[in-house]
Amino acid sequence: MDKNNNYSVLKKFSQTQGIDLFGVADISKIKNEFRLSPKTLQNLDKAVCLGVMLSASALSEIEEAPTKLYFHHYRTVNTFLDQTALKLCNMIQKKGYAALAIPASQIVDWEKQTAHLSHKKLGVMAGLGWIGRNNLLVTKQLGSQLRLATILTDMPLKTDKPVKEDCGSCLLCVKICPAGAIKDDPAEFDLIKCFEKLKEFQKQRLVDQYICGVCVNVCKGRDGSQLKANLSPS
Ligand code: SF4
Ligand code: SF4
Repeated sequence: MDKNNNYSVLKKFSQTQGIDLFGVADISKIKNEFRLSPKTLQNLDKAVCLGVMLSASALSEIEEAPTKLYFHHYRTVNTFLDQTALKLCNMIQKKGYAALAIPASQIVDWEKQTAHLSHKKLGVMAGLGWIGRNNLLVTKQLGSQLRLATILTDMPLKTDKPVKEDCGSCLLCVKICPAGAIKDDPAEFDLIKCFEKLKEFQKQRLVDQYICGVCVNVCKGRDGSQLKANLSPS
């Protein structure tokens, strides 16, 4: 099978499993940023990026702080992504290639808020969207109302290109962030202010994990059509 065909097979399978956004990034030049051993990464040169939408209704309960309903939904979507990534990994392995699923939500350094790799950075490289003023991946279809998982593989796959888009004149999240962490310039996002607010929410026992959702709730996507995913066959 060639790389175009492999891409189509994985995309189609992802679609049938309920994945909403799919893209592939070439990671050969950024592998040294990952918190994984060189031995594990040796031949893995592609990242398959999977995105699943969050429920706009579950998010809409959020005003100035996260809700227990959102927390449950957040974990449910992460589990769904992890299980779907596992199925895709098994499929890739049965075709004779290596596949490593990186969990949707597994922080390895809470102070720096880093995981084994950055799903959102790979999402940008795979053409799913851009890094918004809220420091999250923003997509045209879903805004920031999605969760991501990644599969690293040595399977020959065609790769996607980053999109040439940004937040434009939108300032919705800048105005609503309870920490004042979001600025006009995305490069000035204040990670420390954001994290301090997440710690506050957790201390108040609103949720059992460092999550918020306030800026996600207002970031609904450029075309406002939550159901238009990118999974048209190719
Ligand atoms: S997660 Fe909450 S505190 Fe952090 S930037 Fe978004 S709205 Fe602000
Ligand atoms: S709410 Fe608007 S400014 Fe904020 S990340 Fe989303 S698109 Fe960008």
